[in-house]
Amino acid sequence: MKELSRIASAIAPSSTLAINNLYKQMKAEGKDALGFGVGEPDFNTPDTIKLAGIRAIIDNQTRYTAASGTQELKESICLRLREDCGVEYAPAEIAAASGAKHSLYIALQCLLNPGDEVILPVPYWVSYIEMIRMSGGIPVMVEAGHEQDFKITPEQLDAAITDKTKAIILNNPSNPTGMVYTKEELQALADVCVARDIYIIADEIYYCLVYDNKPFTSIASLGDDVKAHTILVNGVSKAYAMTGWRIGYTAAPAPVTKLISNYLSHSTAAPSTISQAAAAEAFRGSQESVKRMHAAFEARRNYMVERMNAIDSISCLKPQGAFYVMMNLDGVMGRTIRGHAIGSSADFASAFVQEEMVATVPGSAFGADRYVRWSYATDMDTIRKGMDRLETFIKDLK
Ligand code: PMP
Ligand code: GLU
Repeated sequence: MKELSRIASAIAPSSTLAINNLYKQMKAEGKDALGFGVGEPDFNTPDTIKLAGIRAIIDNQTRYTAASGTQELKESICLRLREDCGVEYAPAEIAAASGAKHSLYIALQCLLNPGDEVILPVPYWVSYIEMIRMSGGIPVMVEAGHEQDFKITPEQLDAAITDKTKAIILNNPSNPTGMVYTKEELQALADVCVARDIYIIADEIYYCLVYDNKPFTSIASLGDDVKAHTILVNGVSKAYAMTGWRIGYTAAPAPVTKLISNYLSHSTAAPSTISQAAAAEAFRGSQESVKRMHAAFEARRNYMVERMNAIDSISCLKPQGAFYVMMNLDGVMGRTIRGHAIGSSADFASAFVQEEMVATVPGSAFGADRYVRWSYATDMDTIRKGMDRLETFIKDLK
């Protein structure tokens, strides 16, 4: 048989999705498993949004739309960006796709030439690194551990840029760390990107989830120069509990958006019409449900962080956004728990799921082996049990 694609053969499967499958399998076998692996809101999609989807079916909105989405959807996206992020985009600058993951992938496909470098702050979300490689690019890592609040500095960014650098992927608030850049920090990074003329792929999918009454700043709101360099990526999955509907979008200068639309026209020929109608309702309808979910996430974060930091040998920073906690393993590494030697984040996550049936994601998936990621996008009862089991497990540390 002929050799299969080298690019495809080199892709590692998504470990966040793999851990979710493992958890679901354990549940299906009747085990008392607890899932903190995948970052997926446990809430149901709000009824008004579901009804918009049902209405779209009844009204026969069941045919192809423009490849980059309906005018109705694009206008609702522009409205939300204006109201929430203080940025003005025209519908011609918006391209909807089948999830923010898809939008990110298409954006990279449209920006990169073979050998182009893309700067990636570490810890990074698992899919970025593979998507860069799938697009012929080379990821260039910039380290930001908990000692620097999981944030890269403008000096680090500047030092990482070469004449091959095409873009940086900046995820704010961050998956997996939950950190949020302040306006000043963001401005300093944006200044470097503009001065060195690199694109900013700004993944702001968690922008609705910033806690402690802190404001969120969209990088595109920092001025025309910055906006001209930015490809904003967002979607409905996290803010509206719509992971299965698969709608994401890019907002970018019209010439970039045109390329993205052309690319989409030959790959998906538009996202599902039913999902587009539901997403339009999500963006333009009442935002009350977003506030309700936000309050629940904040309470869960507070509880999880307090419990975790009360346990010896492990710790975490208090994340300011998204719905993840990075648990630091420095005090556990090189030791054993119930006969399991802990030499890596994968060792810990594997021992923990075997012994206590608690699924978490090893930090190695995010380029950060000193940590394990917990998602608190699950109910309080599960979080309570998860923390109890963590406490019991860590007591057996030798
Ligand atoms: N970006 C980040 C940082 C994420 O955590 C996710 C979650 N899967 C996505 C993008 C993609 O979201 P979706 O494709 O469900 O819109
Ligand atoms: N973004 C979520 C996570 O990191 C969902 C899983 C995925 O799309 O990889 O867990």
